[in-house]
Amino acid sequence: MAKNSDISIQVAPGIYRVRVPIPDNPLGHLNCYLVEGKNGWLMVDTGWYTPDAFSALEAGLRGLDLGFADIATIVVTHVHPDHFGLAGRIKQISPKTELVTHRWEVDLIESRYIRLSDLREKMYQMLARHGVPAADLPLLGSASMPAIQFVTVTLPDRTVYGGEIISTGVYDLELIWTPGHSSGHICLYEPQNQVLFSGDHVLPKITPNISRNVQSGDNPLGDFIGSLHKIENLPAKVVLPAHEDTFTDLKGRIGQILVHHHRREAEIKEAISQRPLSAYDVSSRITWDIPLAWEQFPALHKRSAVTETLAHLDWMRWKGQVERLEQDGVYLYRAVGA
Ligand SMILES: [Zn+2]
Ligand SMILES: [Zn+2]
Repeated sequence: MAKNSDISIQVAPGIYRVRVPIPDNPLGHLNCYLVEGKNGWLMVDTGWYTPDAFSALEAGLRGLDLGFADIATIVVTHVHPDHFGLAGRIKQISPKTELVTHRWEVDLIESRYIRLSDLREKMYQMLARHGVPAADLPLLGSASMPAIQFVTVTLPDRTVYGGEIISTGVYDLELIWTPGHSSGHICLYEPQNQVLFSGDHVLPKITPNISRNVQSGDNPLGDFIGSLHKIENLPAKVVLPAHEDTFTDLKGRIGQILVHHHRREAEIKEAISQRPLSAYDVSSRITWDIPLAWEQFPALHKRSAVTETLAHLDWMRWKGQVERLEQDGVYLYRAVGA
């Protein structure tokens, strides 16, 4: 029977957490969860592919008297580098470990990590259409590229759609499709002890980035809000997020996230009430959780601001509150009836 160690902490019956460091990132770490099994354990999310992250994960396993070969299954909640980065490395060491992702994440593995130049080109075109000034395009268009070095690319052994049960022989975990933050994001639910693994879908303090970009669906914020409602009444005694700390009030936290998005929507409505604006111009006028003037925003923040604003504008279009016009190749948005 495995025991608690300094580096691997028990967070629920038969479930342990290893904190895997994320370099140069305000999130600090990814929570990798290990679920006890009869013939092999289940790992939920892996961490970035860096020597430090790899050592932390290895030490976490060792603290439970485990090695990578004891991991029968890895489920990645989505393929962002902090969750998926080490999956390929683990598979090199333990080829029998089965990697599971949602079907929609497979396309993202290809476009994010294999056919990169297509993605960069499409991102430039998209940002230009949404009003990003030509001078900012090279920096904003490639703002997330450095993350690629933290991933050992591999493809899943098994793809899922949500609704499947993964059994470790001790626990049965239900996979729940929760698109929004990523189109194939999944949560896992263990009903016996009412434990929810919430990935990046619901975090206790930060609100996940919901962006309309070249890889997202055409209404990611609408998807996200639908996915919040999908799980809000789930009986969950313990919520295990992919970042930050364990929490308990799932419904209360979901309520706060919905309020955050309603506020932002109201601000956007106000910004476009006088005249039509591009997504870039809207994002420069609304409030962001960063204590800098818009001109001083780092490229990645600026790009997220534009793509998050766009997710809002598209959701508002779906609801019939906003319409889109085109002027000199740039999309402008205006409030319906303004
Ligand atoms: Zn993520
Ligand atoms: Zn994450």
